[in-house]
Amino acid sequence: MLTAEIICVGTELLMGQVLNTNEHFIASHLPEAGIALNHSSVVGDNPQRLKDALLLAKSRSDIIIMTGGLGPTDDDLTKETVAQVFGKKLVFHAECMDKMVSYLKESGKNLTKNNEKQAYLPEGSIVIENNNGTAPGCIIEDDGKAAIMLPGPPREMVPMFNETVLPYLKNKSGTVLYSRVLRLFGIGESRAAAMCDDLIKNQTNPTIAPYAKEGEVTFRVTASAENEATAKAMADETVSAMYERLGEYIYGEGDETSLAEVVVNELNKKKLTVSTAESCTGGLIGKMITEVSGASSVYGFGFVTYANEAKMQLVGVKHETLEKYGAVSEETAKEMAEGARRVSGSDIAVSVTGIAGPTGGTKEKPVGLVYIGISDKQGCEVFRFVQHGDRERVRNKSALCALDIIRRRIQYA
Ligand code: AMP
Ligand code: MG
Repeated sequence: MLTAEIICVGTELLMGQVLNTNEHFIASHLPEAGIALNHSSVVGDNPQRLKDALLLAKSRSDIIIMTGGLGPTDDDLTKETVAQVFGKKLVFHAECMDKMVSYLKESGKNLTKNNEKQAYLPEGSIVIENNNGTAPGCIIEDDGKAAIMLPGPPREMVPMFNETVLPYLKNKSGTVLYSRVLRLFGIGESRAAAMCDDLIKNQTNPTIAPYAKEGEVTFRVTASAENEATAKAMADETVSAMYERLGEYIYGEGDETSLAEVVVNELNKKKLTVSTAESCTGGLIGKMITEVSGASSVYGFGFVTYANEAKMQLVGVKHETLEKYGAVSEETAKEMAEGARRVSGSDIAVSVTGIAGPTGGTKEKPVGLVYIGISDKQGCEVFRFVQHGDRERVRNKSALCALDIIRRRIQYA
């Protein structure tokens, strides 16, 4: 497999003034090109340090991808330094100059003397056109190594990467990667990994990469082969084995999906409606549901019943229930869910009542204690959780748990 390394050039990146989004963007697209990223670094606008970084990169990587330092000013040194390291001259490209002139004209600007510098590229360069700025990018190849130079501004770099660099890399690698991303909820990373320990231990191709984020676990299964059909078949086989072990926790697939999206789509498919009665989450479940396009046909009523009066007035929780068991209790959660369903006429209702903290916890009812109720025509069920973390995390996790409870309920409806 071809190896690559990224060098982002710019003192502003080192100083933390600009977030290095270019690195993140490029790194996330190399797997699909069948290229292994082995190193990544940031260098300031300093010719000696850039030269050192380039010599090291050239000694250990097949492809060096650079962003930044292609501008018209004196501190923009990427092309000059690459040319030096690869033993090439900078030559004037008349077409690049013409394109720059017309680009500037369209933007109502005049060419300045130092723009001319941007039309000089290392000899033998493949030009990467820039339709969103002046600086062209370029690729040079030498001795089985390639150096790719892209401008720093993301709005210029991203289209150039997509349109020219990605196809170039795919063609060069001759390897196709195919990934499936499994999204899990309701299980921790270590337990999920343990449940497919045998698959993870023996992995070479496909690879199985688990990672955890905000209450959920993701597995990326990636196969590489000489063509997409083969890579896909290999990934599919591993994914099937993972479904056998983890099926009930897998709520969906893909980088973009969310628990709320899966719930809204499933409700739509089954022509079911849902309503919410939220105390400690204060409308967060409603927010997550309404972020999904298509939510209006499944979600009409969201009650934010933060105070006891709201619980009584809006969803008919009984005064005695609150007196006897308290607002954070199984009984209250049950009456909230049943009341929300009754008042809204929805098929399903979900309720949340809990202690988000940091204050308000007691020995019997600690911070993080949350009851989630679900009511539908089969009846009402209440789940008890003790969530860990700060207020934001308790609220967020509780909202996600509520969505997962809906998901599981409708799966078997
Ligand atoms: P340059 O091509 O070095 O003149 O960079 C121009 C501008 O692009 C910088 O001032 C930054 O705002 C932005 N930029 C440069 N490098 C990056 C990067 N790695 N990630 C995000 N933005 C960048
Ligand atoms: Mg710069």
